[in-house]
Amino acid sequence: MAGLRQVDPEVAHILSAENRRQHAKVRLIASENYVSHAVLEATASVMTNKYSEGYPGRRYYEGQQQVDRLEALCVRRACELFGAEHANVQPYSGSPANLAVYLALAKPGDTIMGQALAHGGHLTHGDPVSMSGVLYRVVQYGVRPEDYRLDYDEIERLAHQHRPRLLICGHSSYPRQLDFARFAAIGHAVGALVVADIAHLSGLVVGGAHPSPFPHVDVVTTTTHKSLRGPRGGMIMCRREWAEAIDKAVFPGLQGGPHNHTTAALAVALREAAQPAFRDYARRIVDNAQVLAAALQEQGFRVITGGTENHLVVLDATSRGVTGRQLAKALDAAGIVCNFNRIPFDPQPAMHPSGVRLGTPAVSSRGFGADQMRQIASWISRVARVRADAAVPLEQRRVAYAEIAHEVRQLCDRFPAPGLTYHG
Ligand SMILES: *Cc1c(COP(=O)(O)O)cnc(C)c1O
Repeated sequence: MAGLRQVDPEVAHILSAENRRQHAKVRLIASENYVSHAVLEATASVMTNKYSEGYPGRRYYEGQQQVDRLEALCVRRACELFGAEHANVQPYSGSPANLAVYLALAKPGDTIMGQALAHGGHLTHGDPVSMSGVLYRVVQYGVRPEDYRLDYDEIERLAHQHRPRLLICGHSSYPRQLDFARFAAIGHAVGALVVADIAHLSGLVVGGAHPSPFPHVDVVTTTTHKSLRGPRGGMIMCRREWAEAIDKAVFPGLQGGPHNHTTAALAVALREAAQPAFRDYARRIVDNAQVLAAALQEQGFRVITGGTENHLVVLDATSRGVTGRQLAKALDAAGIVCNFNRIPFDPQPAMHPSGVRLGTPAVSSRGFGADQMRQIASWISRVARVRADAAVPLEQRRVAYAEIAHEVRQLCDRFPAPGLTYHG
């Protein structure tokens, strides 16, 4: 960053500090990761200088000799890796990818059906505050109160009752595997197109650690920066039948020029995800989440659904006498970064929910294994104990968190994370 430091020391200083933070913290935000140095290099490339509205061979600006090669390569890699007939790699992120699919395949006012945000779904699956909830008639499904698992019989009943145009499956915090074949059967029986949003799961899917939505569903969307470990972006894959409608919806329907530097970095990430080592990585993500869930349960935490089959662990913090928000803030002070989250049927409001969501993609990228997961569970338990004890004065609490942050730092120094220039 020598050039940056000279031109803009203020920004350079912030970036260095963020680099140190990402090194020194245990990062358990389930949607985050560490990309490789190669992905960072491609992201920071001259491709950011180029405008290329359109698609390879059909652009509205000249000078596309390299961009066309790049995008075609990226699309080919995506199709091969996911087993898709068509891929559009231009969506700026996961939310616009979903909106483009709705624009392509439904008319405003049509019925769409998705998993409720409060039950682990995503805003763009029809939440009232999202554009998806404004433009469409929305039917939401959730999990069962008995075991917090998706109730496929109930989803089927709702689908028959409402006959949606689109049935959307996929989530941001549901710790169990999805049955894509069942979703497809339910949707197709009522004439719906079935969309799988695998934003959180795409790395697990290509690494063989979660079942694939192909060949069951019609359209697959994903972010590229979560477990897939690429640059921030989005992607849509579909059967050939829907290719033209999807491409038209992304451009000119929703977006202008694609972010070619992101396309370059995505192509690199897809190549990395096709290597045998990525399969080990995906397996380790799930193994680590399972060890973490079990260890937290031993520490007296209520773990939603009693465990996990993917990269997520959702905790009911109130089982240890703190709210999710209190625990997440205290953990951050102790060097462990996660987010507070509602749990299904949460009696608490969204800004002070009962739960926290933990995820293992980032810590698995830096090589943490079972021993480190048990260590993290014990730190989380210590933090909860300190935070829950009203008799502990504020200053003493701060000291306790700082002690844990110091131990966290020592562990992190032993596991340099990919892509960072600072390793302690
Ligand atoms: C993260 C996520 C998205 C949106 O991604 P952004 O890149 O934040 O727009 C969409 N769907 C699901 C299920 C997600 O988890």
